[in-house]
Amino acid sequence: MHDAIIIGAGLAGCGLAIQLAQQGQRVLLLEQQRYPTHKLCGEFLSTEVTAIFERLGILEAVQAAGAVPIRRASLTTCTGESFRTHLPGTALGLSRYALDRILWQRALEVGATCLDRTPVTAIDGNLAEGFTVSTAAGFHRARLAFGAYGKCSRLDRQRGRRFAARPNPFVAVKGHYTGLSLAETVELHAFPGGYCGLSEIEAGVINVCWIGHGGLMRSAAAGLPPTEPFSRAVLRRNSSLASRLEAMTPVAGASQALGQISFALKGTFDDDLWMIGDTAGMIAPLCGDGMAMALGSADLALPIALAFLGGHIEPKLVKGRYRQGWNRAFRRRLQLGRCLQQGLLHPAVARLAVGLCGSRPALGDALIRATRGAERAR
Ligand SMILES: Cc1cc2nc3c(=O)[nH]c(=O)nc-3n(C[C@H](O)[C@H](O)[C@H](O)COP(=O)(O)OP(=O)(O)OC[C@H]3O[C@@H](n4cnc5c(N)ncnc54)[C@H](O)[C@@H]3O)c2cc1C
Repeated sequence: MHDAIIIGAGLAGCGLAIQLAQQGQRVLLLEQQRYPTHKLCGEFLSTEVTAIFERLGILEAVQAAGAVPIRRASLTTCTGESFRTHLPGTALGLSRYALDRILWQRALEVGATCLDRTPVTAIDGNLAEGFTVSTAAGFHRARLAFGAYGKCSRLDRQRGRRFAARPNPFVAVKGHYTGLSLAETVELHAFPGGYCGLSEIEAGVINVCWIGHGGLMRSAAAGLPPTEPFSRAVLRRNSSLASRLEAMTPVAGASQALGQISFALKGTFDDDLWMIGDTAGMIAPLCGDGMAMALGSADLALPIALAFLGGHIEPKLVKGRYRQGWNRAFRRRLQLGRCLQQGLLHPAVARLAVGLCGSRPALGDALIRATRGAERAR
């Protein structure tokens, strides 16, 4: 019998596992993939993560892994408008391959039991009687169960979550490249139906990650599979981005592609299964704040979980407190991210919005601040 089972070892799952184990709780962390592994992500870590990394005890390891400081942002449209600014603090660029490995190692170090290559197949139970979590190798029992299994998992369909039954039009592709320095700037380039982020990570590598609405992009790359030529066909519709791509060479082995990406508010609990990170809701990638939010949701869950495990609050209060905290912290940010993303997908709106930010930089800066959390003291 564990105190908590956490399903999925991304930012949210590892962040919570580390903090619960640091508080002496018996934690089981279950991950379906073999670790470490490449993951689909822009690999840009928003300014507020540094304080969280310090609390988790991984800041030194992140720096030693070669995390790159990022102090500026730039945005271009396919019609030539652009906006450049300073970020409200120092962000970081680091591959998910390196970051997830550091988090996983830290969870092991502080005493969590961590099993990779262990996909969870079913979750039963409730807060009053405890949970049974099934895998191919058998089942595990715990007083609390957390869904930290990310943006889409077959568990969502199996549990009949509403968003998983709807068709979600977004597809995303990521790859690593060499041959360019971004000079501490994260770049975002819009094209009809989508946008692409360029972020420098360790060892002089550039992560290129783009997301688009399948329907809106179809004509750009009809018939091509979602690989390198497909990406180039879609992305060259923005000339600044096209010239960036000309200068770069792909690195083998890191490419990832994914469809069915949803930006719905998915719910903080599914029955009594406690949702953290993208499993509760994912912010539009253009905000570059999904990883910080995943860690932030683990931070929100921690004191409530400890109070429940210590017998200080009832199941009913657990759900209400987390829902309230989550809505206060993230709901508006997610809605704003969705609106900005909708705008960026349409060239005429993107042109107007980016043009406006270019001529009134204070507006662009305010939007950047509004799409991320406040930096907490370390
Ligand atoms: C195109 C794109 C670009 C993005 N770029 C950025 C960016 O630059 N910066 C940023 O901050 N955010 C970005 N994000 C968002 C960010 O990637 C997520 O918000 C973040 O990874 C959420 O962390 P998580 O822990 O909730 O989920 P994840 O990191 O996805 O982790 C979930 C884990 O659960 C595991 N899992 C799934 N199902 C099971 C199962 N049945 N059993 C066991 N394990 C399971 C998965 O293998 C995975 O390891 C981007 C998202 C997209 C789609």
